[in-house]
This record gives sequence, structure tokens and C-alpha cells, in this order.
Amino acid sequence: MGNKLRKALCGLLACGLLAGLAPVSAGAAVSTPFYDVATTSWYNDAVVYVYANKLMSGVDGNFFGPDVDASRGQIVTILYRLAGEPSVTQTNAFVDVPTTAYYSSAASWANKEGIVSGYGNGVFLPDGAITREQMAIIFYRFANYQKYDVTRTKDLSVYSDNWQISSYAKDAVGWAVTTGLMNGTDSTTFNPTGLASRAVLAATLMRYCSLDSIKVPAGTVVAAKPTVIEETSVPAVSAPVVPVSSTLVSTTTLDGSTIQTPKMTFQWPVQGTVSSGYGARYIFGSTSFHRGIDIPAPLGVGIHAGAAGTVTFAGEQGSYGNLVVIDHGNGFQSYYGHNSKLLVAKGDVVQKNQVIAACGSTGRSTGNHCHFEVHYKGQVVNPMTYLPAKNDAPANQVAAVVTEAAEAPEMTQEALILAAIY
Ligand SMILES: [Zn+2]
Repeated sequence: MGNKLRKALCGLLACGLLAGLAPVSAGAAVSTPFYDVATTSWYNDAVVYVYANKLMSGVDGNFFGPDVDASRGQIVTILYRLAGEPSVTQTNAFVDVPTTAYYSSAASWANKEGIVSGYGNGVFLPDGAITREQMAIIFYRFANYQKYDVTRTKDLSVYSDNWQISSYAKDAVGWAVTTGLMNGTDSTTFNPTGLASRAVLAATLMRYCSLDSIKVPAGTVVAAKPTVIEETSVPAVSAPVVPVSSTLVSTTTLDGSTIQTPKMTFQWPVQGTVSSGYGARYIFGSTSFHRGIDIPAPLGVGIHAGAAGTVTFAGEQGSYGNLVVIDHGNGFQSYYGHNSKLLVAKGDVVQKNQVIAACGSTGRSTGNHCHFEVHYKGQVVNPMTYLPAKNDAPANQVAAVVTEAAEAPEMTQEALILAAIY
């Protein structure tokens, strides 16, 4: 979208006209291309809204990542878009924000306007997650930047955990609750330290753009710009961040183009020989693209983490079956699909080689195997780029007694195509 059009869109957002056009009416037929957003989910309308209004896209083509934590890099990018992408002269405010990063201009802008500050010492932590309290602060500062009235507040003693709200965040949380931008997680809990997922961010964005209560009533005296506080009280991300080499390697993305990423080495997840490689293949008259590699292994044997990291997803995920996703920091994530049993949970910190699941054939699968994917900054990349030439997984050992294999799905042609993709 061109800058002009985006500005026009933001104009519409500002005067509220878009609220009537947005696909948020009950039973809206508008859908998204995301496999992981069920139309029955509580966040479906919000995802439809942010997708249709080009505020958020997926973590990659067909995945929105509703349960993935929203990152600081993502939120500044979205607000920068909403602000109409004003030109930025200062482009290198942070040591950990490369000028080539998609969020580079947004981070500089957000810093200059006091909307999102760094952690001191020039550190921005673009991949860092956002707590609910921080989200309130960011939207509060953005509303002030947009010259909306942010003076309204609320007595937060209704929340039994109000003592957990940082003193510098009280005005922001009070404003967010009063305007209806944010609610407690229940009537007596605000959960200020809980992390904001991408689904929560989408819902908050939809409310920010469509609630009249956010916008300044005519004649309201706009409060002075709030003092910017260095968010030093926020603990640094505790998850291990796997060091990556400054050496770059070439790899292939889903559309077949070549990109450069830092060099990074994963351990093989399971012992076995690759039965299906990464890349395009021609099946049933159409080209499909295998997002990872398949390594057949016996039912129930351990699947190992390829590198240290934090589990960001552990559950059933459509064609992947029982899926584990590990975030390794530095932009890298690994996916392990089709497991019979999951042995970790979301939020767990795992070490390299740790057994995270038991091999299986859940989801779109034609036999017991591990489907292994590597993502770099939200893009699917070729796992072979990051694996040693020789499979270095330990000898296969039963990790969980699986008495019964998941019933094989009846394979329609579509299912077979999907099985070939996954
Ligand atoms: Zn596969």
C-alpha cells in the first residue's frame, strides 16, 4: 500500500468512518487466509479487522500466530503504520536494531515520540514480549501522540492484583480501562504482568480504532505529554538466546527466493533418514511446497529440541497435528510436527537435545515421522541450511508409551496434497 493510501486509511480510522465499514458485524462472512484462526474463536473478528485494514499480517503466509507473544518490534511497526509512517531522520537509535530491520524506522519514530522507549544503553529488544501493563502504556502514549484525551482514569482498587501495577503505569491502565480499550482478565483481576498475545494485540487494535471513547471529545483540554520513563523495571527476557554467528549464510524461503540469515546450527531432532525434503514438488497437477523436512522414526521415540529456547506453542495445530514451536531468540524458531505426545508446555525453557515430544503421526500425516521446520524472522527457511551434514541426534529411545497410534485420517486427494505439504 502506498503512503498516500495509507494516510487516507489512517484519516478514515481517525474520524471513525472505517468503524462502519470494518468486517466486525455479527456473522461476518469475511475470512482470513490463516489456518490457525478458527471462525469460532473469540479473536476471529479482531483478526479479520486487523487483516482487512492491513494493520497486521500473519507470522507467515497462512499462520497468524494468535497465541504467539506480540513483540515490541511488531507493535511499534503497527502504530507507525497507524500514524501514517511519518519520515524519520534518526535511523539508528538502538544498538540491537539494524537499519535494515523491518521495524527500524518505526523504532526510531516510537523512541523520538516517547511512545516506546528503550531499556537504556541503547537496547530496544525488538523480539521482547510485551506485558499487558506495557501494552496499556504504549497505547496511552500513542493516544496522547494522536492528541486524544488521556486524562480520564479509574480507581483500580477494583482489581485485587492492583498492587502489581507499576506506579508509572497506573494512569495508563486507568485510562485504558475507562475507555474500554482493555478490560481485566476477569472482573477482579487485571493481570498487569501477563504477556500480551498477538490475538490480544489484534483485539486491542480493533478497539483502539473503533471505540469512540478513545477519541478526544471536542473542546477537551489535552493533557501534557506524559513523562517518558525508561522501562528499566521490566525484567529482561529470561529465555536463553542462542548466539548466532555474524557470518551470513544463504537459504531459500517458501517462494523459492534466496535470503541471507545469520549462521545458526541446530541438532537433528530425531535419528533417521530424510524421507521428504524441503521445497516445491509437483503433486496431483499442482505445485505445492513442503515447509520442512520429514524424518521417519518409530512411534513414541523422543523428539529432541534442535537448540535451546522457549516453547511458544505446544498443542494441536491443524495439519501439523501435535506441534511444538520453540523460539530461540535472534529471530530463529523451530517447529516439530505430528507428535503422538507433547512433553513440554508453552512457556517452558528448554535446552538443546532435551526431549520435547514423542514421535507420532497426528495431523495430516501418512506415517510416524517428525516434520521439522526452521523459521527466521517469521519466514520459513530451508532447515538443511542449519543442520549438520550427518544426523547427530542421539539413538532413538522411547520417550512415552503410546498405546495406540492416532487414527490415520481418511486421505482424500486434498488431504494427500496437504500431507505432502506438511
Ligand atoms: Zn513434513
